Amino acid sequence: MLSKKLLDEMNLQIKHELYSAYLYLSMAGHCETVNLPGFAHWMKAQSKEETEHALKFFEYINDQGGKVLLHAIEQPPAEFASPTAIFEATLDHEKKVTARIHGLYALALEQKDYASQVFLQWLIKEQVEEEKNAIQILETLKMAGDKGNSLVMLDQKLASR
Ligand code: MG
Repeated sequence: MLSKKLLDEMNLQIKHELYSAYLYLSMAGHCETVNLPGFAHWMKAQSKEETEHALKFFEYINDQGGKVLLHAIEQPPAEFASPTAIFEATLDHEKKVTARIHGLYALALEQKDYASQVFLQWLIKEQVEEEKNAIQILETLKMAGDKGNSLVMLDQKLASR
């Protein structure tokens, strides 16, 4: 059984995960228009993962006998200055999501909600991966530059995700 506060926060987290899916889908659309199909592919895959995260919360709330309440999702940005700017925004966004999930875990600890602690541990580990992936691509963009041949090569690499 979830406390009212944790239920409310988990319902909000569904929105945040779906906003992440929306943001990455918007980035994918932008990448298609600037002829970066590999980046677009990577972002579409990322968007699907975020939808899965939202569904994990949806299912967990239901398993705990709580009622899912869906909140409105904001419109994500549609224009991005450069491939580097896209991954800076991605890393920035994932750091915010990590902070939110840590906040949920802190709440579960405070409330001695052991089931929610176990559920959230998977997401805490997942966030380490999300941030690591964004950092690696961002470092490559900074090292090799985000134009010309190096960008074409990175686009090909991202197409294989
Ligand atoms: Mg997520």
